[in-house]
This record gives sequence, structure tokens and C-alpha cells, in this order.
Amino acid sequence: MKAYDGMYIDGAWRPAAGPDVIEVVDPADEQVIATVPAGTVEDVDAAVRAARAALPAWAATPPAERAARLTALRDQLHARQDEIAATVTAELGAPEQLARTVHAGVPVAVAGSYAELAATYSFEERIGNSTVFHEPAGVVGAITPWNYPLHQIVAKAAPALAAGCTIVVKPAENTPLVARIFAECVHEAGVPAGVFNLVTGLGPVAGQALAEHPGVDLLSFTGSTAVGRRIGAIAAGMVKRVALELGGKSANVILPSADLARAVNVGVANVMSNSGQTCSAWTRMLVHRDRYDEAVELAAAAAAKYGDRIGPLVSARQRDRVRGYIEKGVAEGARLAAGGPEAPRPQGWYVSPTVLADVTPDMTVAQEEIFGPVLCVLRYEDEEDALRIANGTVYGLAGAVWAGDESEAVAFARRMDTGQVDINGGRFNPLAPFGGYKQSGVGRELGVHGLTEYVQTKSLQF
Ligand code: NAD
Repeated sequence: MKAYDGMYIDGAWRPAAGPDVIEVVDPADEQVIATVPAGTVEDVDAAVRAARAALPAWAATPPAERAARLTALRDQLHARQDEIAATVTAELGAPEQLARTVHAGVPVAVAGSYAELAATYSFEERIGNSTVFHEPAGVVGAITPWNYPLHQIVAKAAPALAAGCTIVVKPAENTPLVARIFAECVHEAGVPAGVFNLVTGLGPVAGQALAEHPGVDLLSFTGSTAVGRRIGAIAAGMVKRVALELGGKSANVILPSADLARAVNVGVANVMSNSGQTCSAWTRMLVHRDRYDEAVELAAAAAAKYGDRIGPLVSARQRDRVRGYIEKGVAEGARLAAGGPEAPRPQGWYVSPTVLADVTPDMTVAQEEIFGPVLCVLRYEDEEDALRIANGTVYGLAGAVWAGDESEAVAFARRMDTGQVDINGGRFNPLAPFGGYKQSGVGRELGVHGLTEYVQTKSLQF
């Protein structure tokens, strides 16, 4: 067990103001692997002051120089990929392959994309008789969740730095170790003191202090809808800008002309990956009634095969929550086609890959985010019915459409109330905007749209 001290504030690891620590637990064996300081209001204040002090010089740094620091940051993340992957496996429980490819790999691509965008973004443009400047939005307060612990930080810090903002990050309490590695990478990349700051701590203490700090101009939050609402309320009260990336209940719509086996297999893998702890996961599979039984059979077989490749959930609380949803689904009339609420192993916070069949749109499991390896398979009568079901939740983060003909899938996707849709499987694009319609959030991350969140405009008329 390692006891880390200090938080990365103003370019150095400073001792925490208070004595309290947070235990980091390996979800696979429930052993404490490390402790980190539990930041207080004082630590947050020191970090925000450092970010404020660093803002004028960083905002005035030429975009090409900011791009050079981001390139160096990408190189640092790339050089430390193995260590990052091992850390995410230890604190989140992610299987090695997923940790290497997704948890450690995607942040390299995202940091690289912002190195390029910092150099090419039009920070100044001419509109008629006006010159419009896209200036940094100021000091950013970022609060991130544990599900993709490094990606969630990079998706906020990289565009913020590219735009010329300075930032204070409060990472999730379950996964602070990879956040510390990120701070080391920022340091090694030569980012000036105070531009990036890290305060580990509990949400209601350090997170809340960051959101309420008058020295923070813009809040960027990813996590639960409940906390997102609080952050939004604080932002409204203080008239701060805010970006919220919240939950999802995304539909995977398999149209009758689709390759059913492929759509089901990819759909199951999408839900089970990261043990279902993905806000954009396609957790509701929608299948035409004529092919429904076949789809459930295929899904159950795919989920059963996934069994030994799945990692644990992040915490006992999440495991209990997910089991509770499975039980509730069955109690409300769903049928267990694979998996179930029983613990598959004596140790670790595991839940079996589970498929719930005969799910109807009004059931709790079809409406609420479960955030675990649980797929709901729903039946539809015709295309209009499928659209009604797909759009029939408070969320609108992502989704998928499968059809024999791509244009048929596109036509359907255009009618979905959701921020991102994968057509016949899709492929991750780090430059495509990511974010929610409806209660899935406010604002966009990634690519040029993500950068735009961190600028404010000033126009000069001539
Ligand atoms: P959470 O919203 O409680 O935590 C997210 C972040 O917010 C963490 O850094 C946390 O410390 C912080 N936080 C918590 N309370 C706060 C407060 N009062 N003020 C300021 N910051 C605060 O999420 P969770 O409890 O870790 O997970 C619960 C549910 O949230 C999950 O089951 C899932 O449905 C959802 N979730 C969504 C995402 C996503 O990517 N959209 C990620 C993680 C969790």
C-alpha cells in the first residue's frame, strides 16, 4: 500500500491543508492499494488562486506555443501508456486489454487532437466590419467521474489548455491515481506552473468548494444527473458558464433489414465493455417483433461468452445498485435470459453479464441508467414504434442504428433525439462532438466543438 501525499498546485506537489485521506481500493480483490489526501476548501482555494494567477500569461501565450505543450503532453501520455493502463486496472478493475487500448490509448489521441486544434483554430476572425476574438473563458473548474478516469480529465483539460484557459481538476475519489500520473505528465510537458492544478478529495467537500469558488469562471462536470443538477444550480446562481455531461439510456435500434447477428453481437459487446460503466452504452436493444426471439437467443449467448472477460464494478455501492436494478427488472416482469443478480465470484465487486428480455418501455430498467453489465432487449411493432421507444426516455446521449442500407439507418438516426449515433457499428472519432440532448447534458466535448466550450467571444467594430 502506498500513501501518497500532496496535491499538484501551482506547478509543485504541495502538502494538503488537512490530515484526512481517501483510501483507494482495487475492485477485483477489495484490498486497499493506496491513500491520497482528501482535499479541503483551503486546498481548493490555493489551487484556484494559482490558476487565476497563471491565467493572464497563459491566455497571452501564442497558440503555437500552447500547441507545443500539448504535443509534449501527448508524448508523455504515450510514453507512460503501460503504467497508465496498469494503474487503471488497479483502481478501476479494467481488464488489461481494455485498459491498454481504451483507457490509456484514447487519451493520447485526444491530447494529440488538441495539439493540432490549438495550432489551427481560428482564434480571430473577420465578420463584415468586425473582428471577432475567441478569448479564453477563464479559470475552469472540472469535476470528473471514475468510469474512464483519464479520458474524462483529458477531454476537459486538453481543450481548456488549447483555448488558453487555466484549470483545477477534482477527479473522482475512487480513481485518483491515474489523475496523479496525468499531473506528472503535464509537469514534464513543460506546462507553466498554475495552468493545470489537481485537488483530490470528496465530491461534497472539494467538488462543492470548487463549484462554488468565485474565482472559477466555468464549470465542466461529468457524472450523475443528480450531482449535475446541483452543479448547474450553483452555476446559475453565480452566473458561471457550465458544461454538463450526464447519464444516458441509449437505444440500439436494429431495423428489420439489418445483419441481426452482427448487430446483436456488437451491441452486447458495447454494453458489457468496461463492465457497463459507460454513459453512452447502448443499454436498450430494440428489435422488430418478428426477429425478437432470435435476437434474445443471440444476445444471451454473446453475454455468456463475455463472462470471463468482464471486470468488476468500481465499488460495492455500484455493484449493489446494479444488482438491485436486475432484481427490480425481474420483479416488474422482465425475463432473465443471461446472468442475474447473484455474485459470480466470492471476492471482488463483480456482476455477471446480464440480459433482460421482455422489457417494456415503462419498466424502471428501460428508463433509468443502470451503469452495469445489463442489456435490456425491447420489442417493437414497426419503425414509428421503434422511434417512439428510442426517444421515450429523459436521456439523449448516444445510440446506434443498424440497417441493410446505410441511408435507411441515417434517415432513422436523424429522427432520434440524441447527440451521437453509430451507423452499422460506427467507429470512434476523437474529433466528433460528444454530448447530450435532453437531460443527458449541456455542451459538447471533443474536437473543435469541445474547444469552443472554453472560449468567449469579443467583437470589435470598425
Ligand atoms: P457522482 O456524480 O456522484 O460523481 C461524479 C463526480 O462528482 C465525482 O468527482 C464526485 O466526487 C463529484 N461530486 C459528487 N458529489 C458532489 C457535490 N455535491 N458537489 C461537487 N462534486 C460532487 O457519480 P457517482 O456517484 O460516482 O456515480 C453514480 C452514477 O452516476 C452512476 O451510477 C452513473 O449512473 C452516473 N455516472 C455517469 C457518468 C458519465 O460518464 N456520464 C460517469 C460516472 C457516473
